[in-house]
Amino acid sequence: MRRGLVLLVALLVSIASLFGTAVAGPFGPPSVMHATSDDVPRQPREALPANLVGATAHAGSVTVIGEPGLEDTAQDLASKAQLALDEISADLIDGLPRPGAIEVHLVRDSSDLPRVAPQGRGAPPWAIGVAYPDLGIISVAMRRGGTYVDPVNTLRHELAHLALGAAIGDKAPHWLHEGFAYQHSAEFSFERSETLAGMAWLGGIVSLDELDRSFPAEESPAHRAYAQSYDFVGYLSRRGHWEDTDDDGDRWPFRRFLADLGKGKTIDQAAMKAFGKPMKLLFEEWRANLSSRYLLAPIGLMGLAAWVLVALILMLAWRRRRKQNRARIALWDVEERRRDREEQRAQAEVAARLAAITLASSPAGGALVVPPPATRLDGIDPLADDPATDPHGSTAARLLN
Ligand SMILES: [Zn+2]
Repeated sequence: MRRGLVLLVALLVSIASLFGTAVAGPFGPPSVMHATSDDVPRQPREALPANLVGATAHAGSVTVIGEPGLEDTAQDLASKAQLALDEISADLIDGLPRPGAIEVHLVRDSSDLPRVAPQGRGAPPWAIGVAYPDLGIISVAMRRGGTYVDPVNTLRHELAHLALGAAIGDKAPHWLHEGFAYQHSAEFSFERSETLAGMAWLGGIVSLDELDRSFPAEESPAHRAYAQSYDFVGYLSRRGHWEDTDDDGDRWPFRRFLADLGKGKTIDQAAMKAFGKPMKLLFEEWRANLSSRYLLAPIGLMGLAAWVLVALILMLAWRRRRKQNRARIALWDVEERRRDREEQRAQAEVAARLAAITLASSPAGGALVVPPPATRLDGIDPLADDPATDPHGSTAARLLN
């Protein structure tokens, strides 16, 4: 019962979030890995396997080297990488260092990621993309097993890791790295919503002190550590300097926080200056916000769902009424045309009968006007008294009464 409720809440919040975030490819979010830095030098291009080098594309500071046959994808990734870098750089202000030249290794299948990794670095078997921030190298695969994963989203995620690594180095905790990368790739995941809803309803939020240690060995965006990091950093990016839900700060407090972190302040010093609170209090604030979002979501969203349902019913009723009206008008038209035809037929019959009568009574067999038979008067005044009618020859009245 409780799990059913959690699923329902996750579903409702997921539907709501579709209107507010970008949606990843049709097969869900990519699994990505932010590789830790070490002193291994950049792999010379000649060391890449020959069968995995064919398509090359450049845009700004980005070079994409892809498998033969992936020329179009390589070109697309190069141009979109440069745009993404510009967007990501807007979050890294105050002259924070930016990544230099970036090389992207593009392969079709994730099983080839270890083969295009820098020497001695490798790639985890579950990854679909890997960033090596210290080397300025990113590897991206287009599918894992039979599942296609949008390489643009994967590349954006890895570029964000690379840019944050260049700007802040290793001073950014893991949760901040993953949350920042999610800010710039925004892959949608129903499972992650379910994880967050479960934490809001059933508990299990990992404390800030434990968060970095609780990341799983294998990346899983639905895992609590990832889901928490994505949501917490998202909350910080939307928070103004003060705890005021109407003021999102236009990301400036968040940018100020990253800049101070990059300039050597501790995470609490940077948080105090940007948000007026130490990180632990901000974390508690986020925890309360998460609960209110997921606990109140059913009420708000069910109300919204009820409105949508009523609107749908009204629309269907209106369409039905319109259909009925059209059918009625069409019926009236048919009826009117039938009456017109009958009237015309009746008029035609009357005209035909009149014509028949006229023809029948005409001696000429065709005259339309038949004069009465003529009577010759032969000099007789028809107005004179007829003596035959008055045998007494008297003009006196024969009768009085
Ligand atoms: Zn990541």
